[in-house]
Amino acid sequence: MRSATRLDVLGTEHAYVVLDAAKQLEAAGHQVLHLEIGEPDMPTPPHVVEAGIRALREGRTRYAVAAGVPELRDAIAQALAARGVRAAAENVVVTPGAKPMLFCAALAVIEPGDEVLCPDPGFPIYASVARFAGGRPVYYPLDPKRAFAPDVDAIAARVTARTRVLVLNLPHNPTGGVASPDDLARLAALADRHDLWIISDEVYGQLRYDGRYDSIAALPGMSARTIIVDGFSKAYSMTGWRLGYGVMPARLTAPMITLVINNLSCTATFVQYAGVAALTGPQDPVHRMVAALKAKRDVVVRGLSSIDGVTCATPAGAFYAFPDIGGILERTGLACESFADRLLDEAHTAVLAGTAFGPRGAGHLRLSYAGAARDLELALERIRTWVGSLAAAA
Ligand code: PLP
Repeated sequence: MRSATRLDVLGTEHAYVVLDAAKQLEAAGHQVLHLEIGEPDMPTPPHVVEAGIRALREGRTRYAVAAGVPELRDAIAQALAARGVRAAAENVVVTPGAKPMLFCAALAVIEPGDEVLCPDPGFPIYASVARFAGGRPVYYPLDPKRAFAPDVDAIAARVTARTRVLVLNLPHNPTGGVASPDDLARLAALADRHDLWIISDEVYGQLRYDGRYDSIAALPGMSARTIIVDGFSKAYSMTGWRLGYGVMPARLTAPMITLVINNLSCTATFVQYAGVAALTGPQDPVHRMVAALKAKRDVVVRGLSSIDGVTCATPAGAFYAFPDIGGILERTGLACESFADRLLDEAHTAVLAGTAFGPRGAGHLRLSYAGAARDLELALERIRTWVGSLAAAA
């Protein structure tokens, strides 16, 4: 017996593979530093936890309506309106995390043979779900010389008669890149000209260090062709609660809900009430997190840049550094994959090889700096010492 061939086209998220290897080292008694998984170290804000507990006590333990409870759909629409995106509850579909919405969005808008423009480097799930839906991912490059901002001309050059979807992820995993308002406007015009859907993954939308929040869906006419994918994991430290959503044109909501009914039924009811508290309660935990992340970003970029053979762009958002370690790889003859594997095995520091995010990730690493500040200092020290030992051996 074998599994259906449609599963063969699925890719994976390498962070989970490395996490597993790191956990095995821990089980063997080693102290591993985790810079592989994108997870804030701050606890979920207490008022959000309380709202979840209260919802459980009040018996919010039954099925919810498939689209999400009205209070949460309203709160999401209002939060977006405050950020310039015109949306009503009828445009919102709630899912257990942003990732299920990425999956649903791909199935909802990609026809077999459609080309889907995906960032390279980029979150590997985009290309994976595009293929799963029968589409063909076409990578557009993100260049460190442009601080990994999308290059509108490079994207335009890849549009063909088969192009149907443009995937944007701003701020961007794994580089922390963002787009200028001008470039966003040019991307909107491009999507309009070629009648493209935009899947705009905004899970790091609130984690920008310049205080801006830019969604392409806020630009004139764009909400009619954009599916915003967002969630509570990152900004509200709610990775394990599993809560996310999509915001889409009203004509897509009904088929999307049917898709949700077919695979998810609904999102945990009490968790949705915790989400209402996250959006309608005080936002200072988010602001504090962004300030703390900014300080960690500076430590990590400075620490990495001071290692011989490493250059590291300063991320404008999210919580990942994407250093170019080409100088070390040249000296030692290692590839970034073997560098990352050996760094884990020999220095017990878990990071991801840049190629986990596409071909243009070669020569890079991805480090999450969302963990504890003390661990980051220790990790930088371990990396420096281990790279030094490589240089000595070479
Ligand atoms: N999109 C991007 C770019 C991510 O980095 C992640 C998680 O790492 C997700 C989506 C998924 O988030 P969630 O936990 O809400 O499913």
